[in-house]
Amino acid sequence: MKNTVVLTAEEKRRRLELSRKESEGLTLRDIHCPYCNFIITRVFSDAGGHYLAKCQKCKRQVVLNFAYFRRQKGIGKRKAGGSAQ
Ligand SMILES: [Zn+2]
Repeated sequence: MKNTVVLTAEEKRRRLELSRKESEGLTLRDIHCPYCNFIITRVFSDAGGHYLAKCQKCKRQVVLNFAYFRRQKGIGKRKAGGSAQ
């Protein structure tokens, strides 16, 4: 039995608009290739789960768990400052 959902153009438009509205207030972060440091993609701060990515530069394919790649710019400085832990 097929379990495919066919979206109408109107429904697609509605979901796109909903997605855009939900992303307001979220921040974007770059996901870098673990081999060559090239930016593979950009994800919103609420991104989770696993992502299959192919690096456009070194052509390697990697599986990334976003939870393990949450390093943000400047976080090292904040930690060094002794604010956390
Ligand atoms: Zn790469």
